[in-house]
Amino acid sequence: MLPSPMKPAPFHYHAPKTIEEAVATLARVAPDDGRVLAGGQSLVPTMAFRLARPKHLVDINGVTALARLAAEGDRLCIGATVRHAAFERPTVKGPLGNLLQDVVQHIAHKPIRARGTFCGSIAHADPASEWCLVAAALDAEMVARSERGTRTIKTKDFFAGIMTTALEDNELLAEVWLPLLPPDTRFGFCEFNRRAGDFAIAMALVTFRLKNSLIAEPRVAVGGAEATPRCIAQAEAALDGRAPDAKTFAASADAAAKAVDPLHDENTSADYRRGLVRTVVLRALERAAS
Ligand SMILES: Cc1cc2nc3c(=O)[nH]c(=O)nc-3n(C[C@H](O)[C@H](O)[C@H](O)COP(=O)(O)OP(=O)(O)OC[C@H]3O[C@@H](n4cnc5c(N)ncnc54)[C@H](O)[C@@H]3O)c2cc1C
Repeated sequence: MLPSPMKPAPFHYHAPKTIEEAVATLARVAPDDGRVLAGGQSLVPTMAFRLARPKHLVDINGVTALARLAAEGDRLCIGATVRHAAFERPTVKGPLGNLLQDVVQHIAHKPIRARGTFCGSIAHADPASEWCLVAAALDAEMVARSERGTRTIKTKDFFAGIMTTALEDNELLAEVWLPLLPPDTRFGFCEFNRRAGDFAIAMALVTFRLKNSLIAEPRVAVGGAEATPRCIAQAEAALDGRAPDAKTFAASADAAAKAVDPLHDENTSADYRRGLVRTVVLRALERAAS
């Protein structure tokens, strides 16, 4: 146990070197409030304020097998210790690498991006996390490892609410898989926050292709506005098979605003957020078309 004259409450520190060792340690300590430590950029601040008081930390940073970042077949594999900063340059050729490079600039600030991890963001499931929005927009698959084995969880079954996921306490999110996008995929991202680097109050990520100059395979995902990021079917239906023009984009943005059930707090009313959803979807569509 580390000494107590520290900001966090005392905890036991574990530093596994392999995935097998990590999941075995997690199986042992999870019932006694054991948690995974990845980049520490969400967990450590809450421990410093003693809002979180885990009794055990399983530090996965020494597990080299979790550092995998590679395209395999038609998908990109992102291991549990891959940092946000890895996406500041295109990680794969084509639209997916460009999309991730565009989105990453909106996550926090450089020092946080140097340490925080893609998978840590997904496991933490903040409603305003950019990577959670990417997962929702692209139908990511999450690979969870535990002593019982490996299971793959689709995004629609993974995010269960604000900072709540389908992961069990004794499961390690070992990797996330994203589909490589067809070369003619267009994308647009737009986020609104009051200060650069803050979490988004509302954000949208859209993708589509053009077939005979008409929109095909549209995806319209919204984050920061509801408890979990999600694709808005009504906004996608307003785009499908239509010309990529101002009237179509306005109809899609209106449909998204109408469909959401916005979060609200003392600084941000539900109506204000709904208006922001309309704006970010419209701007994301305009960026995708430009
Ligand atoms: C000032 C500030 C601004 C920020 N702004 C943004 C922002 O704009 N957008 C944004 O998305 N994020 C933001 N963040 C959060 C940051 O992106 C974190 O890096 C991220 O939320 C968590 O990743 P991590 O690797 O640091 O996880 P950690 O802090 O190590 O862990 C977070 C939680 O996830 C669990 N966990 C982590 N990895 C795994 C795993 N592989 N398997 C199972 N459980 C796991 C941990 O046990 C813990 O409960 C900000 C943070 C700060 C301090």
